[in-house]
Amino acid sequence: MKILLASSEVVPFAKTGGLADVAGALPRALEKLGHEVTVFMPAYESISKSEFNVEPTGIELRIPIGHEIQSGQLLRSQLPDSNISVYLIEHAHYFGRSGLYGENGNDYLDNCERFTFFSRGVLESLRSLGSSPDLIHVNDWQTGLIPALIKCELSEHPLFREMASVITVHNLAYQGLFDYEKMAVTGLDPKYFNWQQMEFYQKLNLLKTGLVFSDAISTVSPTYAKEIQGAEQGCGLEGVLKNRAHRLTGILNGIDGDEWNPNTDQFLPVNFNSQFDLRSGNAGKAKCKHELQIESKLEPNPNVPLIGIVGRLASQKGWSLILPVLRQWLESVEAQWVILGTGDPDYHHVLSTLHRSYPTKLALTLGFSNEYAHRIEAGSDMFVMPSQYEPCGLNQMYSMAYGTIPIVRHTGGLADTVINVSPETLENKTATGFSFEDFSVGALDNAITRAVRMYYENRPTWNQLIQTGMNRDWSWNASAKRYEELYRKAILHHSLG
Ligand code: ADP
Repeated sequence: MKILLASSEVVPFAKTGGLADVAGALPRALEKLGHEVTVFMPAYESISKSEFNVEPTGIELRIPIGHEIQSGQLLRSQLPDSNISVYLIEHAHYFGRSGLYGENGNDYLDNCERFTFFSRGVLESLRSLGSSPDLIHVNDWQTGLIPALIKCELSEHPLFREMASVITVHNLAYQGLFDYEKMAVTGLDPKYFNWQQMEFYQKLNLLKTGLVFSDAISTVSPTYAKEIQGAEQGCGLEGVLKNRAHRLTGILNGIDGDEWNPNTDQFLPVNFNSQFDLRSGNAGKAKCKHELQIESKLEPNPNVPLIGIVGRLASQKGWSLILPVLRQWLESVEAQWVILGTGDPDYHHVLSTLHRSYPTKLALTLGFSNEYAHRIEAGSDMFVMPSQYEPCGLNQMYSMAYGTIPIVRHTGGLADTVINVSPETLENKTATGFSFEDFSVGALDNAITRAVRMYYENRPTWNQLIQTGMNRDWSWNASAKRYEELYRKAILHHSLG
């Protein structure tokens, strides 16, 4: 199959979250299955042209945005260590900024214009290149307009007539909502602004647009695919999703084994793998813990539990539970915490205050550091992720691949990946972590207590959890095959009209 993947962020070019990891890894896994994949993304200012060998194609894109014509350039690079072309759409004003979607916690006011330009730019590029993929895979609201443009404007065009589309929802909470006036920016006929297509309570909704017009829909875990059809997690789109449930699939993300493999990871002080004696423990991992404690200015004590957290400081990630539990634990329990994250200034403030009060127990980095994230995953004993909702979640998978025991809330992809410790799962050696149902401080506290108790009291069983998690196949291989199936279905649905 010829597949085009359009995404607003792609590793290693630009990343704010899990979407970028998926957009960087899935194309390689599809290529291994024999498919021809190209990737499209915006040419953000932060992308170094020399580092990524970004070159001009000589193609100029002239795109109508409302009543104006905006011009941009089509650039070309490659996904490292692959034959996959990455086309980057450049526009000095729209993408020549320091943020991807906004700055200082505020979205850019012209995001509708920026991502309409990008979405139309992808299709215009295909015209210029004379290229006609069998399927366009779009991701989240930023590219949600593409399926609508194909269906509403290009369905008679020989290049686009047979092109199927799939949209993947990485996080339903971000929908690309804009005032009605922005409908003119999209250039689509105002007749599509109705509650069954592009409208959401008098607003333009670009994610809904993608859900309505694509040939198939996926999201990033089977549990999340079910959850988003209900009012609690449907973010107002549960009706649309229920309506299209026959086209909706959940496919778990894999992890990129070139980047996240403790046996080859360049960012670690030593490499290690799952081959170790359950009685004596994993010496490589113990060394990573020691070095992490030193790097994080914590006492290098091998016997105290080291609890890691990496992630966005957003309410989704369960900070309203973490902060009270953290305070309690810092006050009364001999455990070390290492936290890396950035986001909501309120959380920054509370964490900084706690850090000042307990500098020997809490290491805090308010920022983004991929390398340090790798070392936290490798050196921690436990990783806490009590998300309110979690479409898939990558960090819990990185944790298990690195022998770090996840403590998670049983929701979305966390429910699909972490096997809770219970008498049965210990007996059949499938347990990989600790999970809890209730979104409450007490339930999180209880789960961490269970974990710490096992850590102190039953090290061979603890080491068994480590080994089981490390031995699981977290690669993209199985998921890429499921995407392949989904693409075939979408092409079939498209051909049947
Ligand atoms: P989400 O996409 O909701 O943010 P995921 O767990 O799916 O959550 O993916 C988050 C990704 O971003 C992971 O690769 C994680 O390591 C990374 N990440 C998040 N915050 C930071 C940070 N402050 N520094 C380094 N990496 C981070």
